[in-house]
Amino acid sequence: MYIPYVANTGWHALIQRLSSLTPTIAKPLSRGRITLINTVSGLQLLIEFNYHSDDRDRVRHMNAVCRAVGMLLSPEVRPLWHTAISIFRSDRAGQFNNLSTTNAIRTGAVATLLDFISAANWPILGMLTKPSVDILKLAQDEDALMEFVQVSFSGPGRHAGTCRMGATDDPDVVVDPEGLVYGVDALRVVDASIMPWVPRGNTNILTLILAKKITAAIGRDFVSRFAHNISRGSCRLTNRAVSIG
Ligand SMILES: Cc1cc2nc3c(=O)[nH]c(=O)nc-3n(C[C@H](O)[C@H](O)[C@H](O)COP(=O)(O)OP(=O)(O)OC[C@H]3O[C@@H](n4cnc5c(N)ncnc54)[C@H](O)[C@@H]3O)c2cc1C
Repeated sequence: MYIPYVANTGWHALIQRLSSLTPTIAKPLSRGRITLINTVSGLQLLIEFNYHSDDRDRVRHMNAVCRAVGMLLSPEVRPLWHTAISIFRSDRAGQFNNLSTTNAIRTGAVATLLDFISAANWPILGMLTKPSVDILKLAQDEDALMEFVQVSFSGPGRHAGTCRMGATDDPDVVVDPEGLVYGVDALRVVDASIMPWVPRGNTNILTLILAKKITAAIGRDFVSRFAHNISRGSCRLTNRAVSIG
């Protein structure tokens, strides 16, 4: 579990006055599922994240939110902020993200209001987000905390492992260590879906590393087929390219 502090994530005056603590479970125990469904309009994909299907994740998440509240209310951090809101949804605030003069004027005006009229903080920020209860209540009322965690939770975007890489004796694996799909000739999968488990860290670099590894395997495969065909005498050299027949 980790609690990143995120600030300065946008260009406009309002976002520069906002920051967040986002309690995150790095190694979830819950498992999602992808199902192919046969419908009249063809095959459809049903994606179920099942984020809190393992109750231990919900408990860890509640614990993480409590810790974040504890940090905010600590004597060291409390003097650093004016208004803290536990939010269910933040999408309304996203309307200002588009780079435009209108948004610059609107966010500048709202930011100035926030700076000079502290009583306006709650109603304004509440309008832009979907606020839940006061953070102090979250720390003191377990039911409120549980409701907040259940409704506000969204995943960290590290979807992985729906087409796992592994050894043949594992019934749940789909591809071998070179990305080749078991039971299908010459088909490889190269993306985050082949990760054997959901990694603790960010997945983008890991996906690139996987791509590099599988590309090397494809290169080795090509060279060995090429050498094999040369030895069989079925390789044709042209003035532009080499074709393997
Ligand atoms: C909101 C969000 C934030 C994230 N933030 C971070 C972060 O900060 N750091 C980090 O490391 N990771 C982050 N990730 C995770 C990271 O983006 C992914 O792990 C990574 O992109 C996975 O790469 P991929 O190749 O498996 O899939 P993708 O990057 O999703 O690539 C799949 C590609 O396939 C294409 N495609 C889909 N269907 C078809 C089709 N039928 N035909 C042809 N093309 C198709 C798509 O357009 C897409 O280009 C984030 C993910 C999300 C959702």
